[in-house]
Formats: sequence, C-alpha cells, structure tokens
Amino acid sequence: MSTHTQQTKKRRPYLFICILILLIALAGIFVQRFAGTDIYNKASLPSIDFGNENEADGEWCLILVNKWHPLETENEIDLTELSNGQCVDSRIYPQLQKMFDDMRDDGVYPVVASGYRTEQEQQQIYDESMAEYIEKGYSESDAKTETERWVAIPGTSEHQLGLGVDINADGINSYGYEVYNWLAQNAYRYGFIYRYPENKVAITGIANEPWHYRYVGVNAATEIYKRGICLEEYLGETN
Ligand SMILES: [Zn+2]
Repeated sequence: MSTHTQQTKKRRPYLFICILILLIALAGIFVQRFAGTDIYNKASLPSIDFGNENEADGEWCLILVNKWHPLETENEIDLTELSNGQCVDSRIYPQLQKMFDDMRDDGVYPVVASGYRTEQEQQQIYDESMAEYIEKGYSESDAKTETERWVAIPGTSEHQLGLGVDINADGINSYGYEVYNWLAQNAYRYGFIYRYPENKVAITGIANEPWHYRYVGVNAATEIYKRGICLEEYLGETN
C-alpha cells in the first residue's frame, strides 16, 4: 500500500510535464491556425528566399510610372494572390508578409485594400470616379481634374505594376491612422515607400495618399526615407 502511494507520487511530475508539453503544443497549433489573423494564403507563398533583405533590391523594382511616364507595355507579372483576393507581384510578397507580421506584433492590424490592377480595372475605377463627380454636378473638365488628383489615368497607375499596394486598417482591431503612422515610420525597412506625400504633390502629380505604398527595395527605400525625397527625385526624373 505504502509502496503504491510512493510510486504514484514519483510519477506525478512526469505526468505533469507530459500534460504541460501537450498543452503548449495545442496552444501553438491554435495560435498558428486561428489567432495569427494571417490575411495571406500561406499555401500560395512562393518559394523565394531572398536570404539577405538587400538582395530584394534591383532595377526591376525601380520602374517609374506616373502621368508623365505611362506604362509602355502591359508586362506579364508573376502574381501571388492574398487570401482576400488581392494580388501582388510575387517578388514583393516575402517583404510584404514580413512587414505585416511585424506590424501585427506591434498590435497594428493592416489589410491590403488594393493590390495589382489590370488596365481595365484601373479604367473602371477612373470611370466610376468621373461618374460620381458628374452626378454631383461637376462639369466634365472639373470632374476630370478632381478624379485625377486621386486616381491615376489608366496606363499610369503603379497598381498595374503589382508593386503598389493600398494598405488600410482591418476595421476591427485598428484605426486607419494607426496603420498609416506605423507605415510612415517603418515601411522603408521592408523596401516600401510612402509614395505620394503631401509636400511632393507637384512632383508626383497625385494627392497625399497615406495608404499607398510602393515597393522599391530596401536600399532605395532607406535613402528615399532618410533624405525625405520622392521616387521621382530619387531617379532624377522630376518634371
Ligand atoms: Zn494606390
């Protein structure tokens, strides 16, 4: 009797440790499955490993597209679809994912509201904006002016490159300004720039858009951020 009691007592710490390990494993699975709020479809994660972040830099991500530099041809882009249906150029996906993961670790919850667009999709957004202004009583030319403050003319949108993303708050856990503030301070570390700042409207041709970020690579983004310049100035292509 006393021997049996003794054995039970001895086993308990092992049993406790086993249960603890099991609980930790279950918690891990739960966090990964449900609490990660990962907006990206992991299944579509491309097998790109840049290793060093700076290898994600290059000419490919420094293409200038604005109203003075329209897209010459519609290139074929290798796209990665996010879990909300938006797409981005697969080459920027790892950096975008890393940025979103780190933002969430800081308690800020973003979504990609708009990623890659075809020329037709850009045309549709443009036409809808025109129709809205005209309905409000604007003249055709005033509607055009207002629309073009915000909406790039089809063929001149960075969204057609797959390198531009509109990032907003998820609307549940975060407010827009929290996302914009985080991005303004940190996005360059991942290779993304605040593309249309208020003080560069005359150069970019687009009004201040705190949600629109453009991938240019970590080296260019860091220089653009530190010098307080825009992409046109960085490339020496100001009008
Ligand atoms: Zn945009």
